[in-house]
Amino acid sequence: MNLIENDNYNIGHICTRRQCEQGRGGKRAFRWISAHQETTDYSFTDLDRESSSFANALQALGFAAGDILFTFLPKTPEQFFVFLGALKLEVVCGTLFANFGYEAIVDRLGDAKARGVVTKKSLLGKITRVREQLPCLQVIIVVDIPEHLSADILSYPALMRQASPDYVARPTAADTPSVLHYTSGSTGKPKGVLHVHGSILHLNRTTREVLSLTESDTFWCTADQGWVTGTSYGIIGPWSLGVSQIHYGGGYDAKLWFELLRDQGVTVWYSAPTALRMLMRESAELYKSFDLSTLRHIFSVGEPLNPEVIAWARATLGKDIYDTWFQTETGGIMITNRPGLEIRPGSMGTPLAGIEAAICGDAGLPLGNHVLGNLCLKSGWPSLFVTYLNHPDVYARKFRDGYYYTGDTAVRDDDGYYWFKGRNDDVINTAGHLISPFEIESALLEIPEVAESGVIGAPDALLFEKVVAFVCLRPGTAYSKELEIKIRLYVSNRVSSIATPQEIVIVDRVPKNKSGKIMRRVLKARYLGQDAGDLSTLED
Ligand code: AMP
Repeated sequence: MNLIENDNYNIGHICTRRQCEQGRGGKRAFRWISAHQETTDYSFTDLDRESSSFANALQALGFAAGDILFTFLPKTPEQFFVFLGALKLEVVCGTLFANFGYEAIVDRLGDAKARGVVTKKSLLGKITRVREQLPCLQVIIVVDIPEHLSADILSYPALMRQASPDYVARPTAADTPSVLHYTSGSTGKPKGVLHVHGSILHLNRTTREVLSLTESDTFWCTADQGWVTGTSYGIIGPWSLGVSQIHYGGGYDAKLWFELLRDQGVTVWYSAPTALRMLMRESAELYKSFDLSTLRHIFSVGEPLNPEVIAWARATLGKDIYDTWFQTETGGIMITNRPGLEIRPGSMGTPLAGIEAAICGDAGLPLGNHVLGNLCLKSGWPSLFVTYLNHPDVYARKFRDGYYYTGDTAVRDDDGYYWFKGRNDDVINTAGHLISPFEIESALLEIPEVAESGVIGAPDALLFEKVVAFVCLRPGTAYSKELEIKIRLYVSNRVSSIATPQEIVIVDRVPKNKSGKIMRRVLKARYLGQDAGDLSTLED
């Protein structure tokens, strides 16, 4: 059956109404399992009705194609209705990780000039705190208040009660903007990565060809909808195929996760190395007691997957883990291990058919096998981002000679397998989350006791990288447990709990070059006890 009918690429339509039209109306689209393990089932008819009601509610509020709406929600069923409803109306939907602090919110909502945000009562305070800095923000919709709080803090249930459940998305062109995710760089503020409705072609294809999902599968993607995996493969890919999912609202818990895999009959599971490494630390007794025979495949994404984890899964679960590689900008899986392809533990696998990868030098020339260089992809696939919102110059710099430069470094072996080596910038990848050292350094400098700061990612056995902050205190300030807690809390509230330094190192000064740029390379080398290399540019 063709995915695209009448040239209509509308993601909201294809993931809901199309599924009903194809006879899956009564099929379970997802089972919602709350943190307290209460379950609620939603069929594709439910998904269609709720998302259409939300599209109508948004339209009644004056939203129209091209406007930007964000969700700032923990995992919750409304996340899916809002996301798909906004897309039906061709409103661009951005998703924010619920652990973000108030400054992270201002940066993103402000840069996008968002007209609205959908949140929960428990998170409302983070938005109202910075409301005055967001002149374009017209409406805050709260999913768990029964009635409107004020003219612009509105109740989702009240809006939905008044909205008609009938909404037919107009045919949407492939290049119509759809989803917005902010990604952190090593300098400047986070950038808004904009995707288009046509991306559904690639997400549908990779869900079939890599994740191997068919209509009879039960899929569990553990990623939060605040990140690209959570939208591309926790929403769009599987539902474009009519696949039933589970969504779990709680956090990591080894026993419970195994129970979910077994009791919910999960057949394909997509998770991340940090979670898999955490499972690996549990006692062998725990996983031996679970029969996971319905689980066909395990996939992983977000950080390098150590060969030890693959060996562990083979030995204890009797399963392979397929490592997949992609990033916010690529929208969907590009380089990957997959059933049918021999796994080389430690390698990200090979590019998908039709995806041309290359290792290029800084001068732009493609390099040979076994040579370390920039991981590049020949541009042109449907889920490639179309711009960094408000930063077309930065976007343009990512492309050269028809190649998109991913920012990762890698090598290719003689059989075309790609091996991840690192990033060519200072961005930190902790537990699969990219974090900007710049955002943390800026937050640290706002603490009155802090004179200078420099932040790096250092290797960590569990998280892949941990955040290490080097802090130079103002004269006369003594370091104490209280100050350490103050620093941690400040970063957590302002940026995000995942950005909170795992280690704080007090230094006399932070190395900078002659133009005042923090020399993170030097900090990292010193921390790791390595040679810091050329120091001639260091300030006196
Ligand atoms: P994000 O844009 O936040 O999804 O992060 C994407 C980045 O995470 C990539 O550019 C890589 O640096 C890293 N990453 C994602 N998947 C993998 C993987 N399978 N192996 C190694 N690094 C990965």
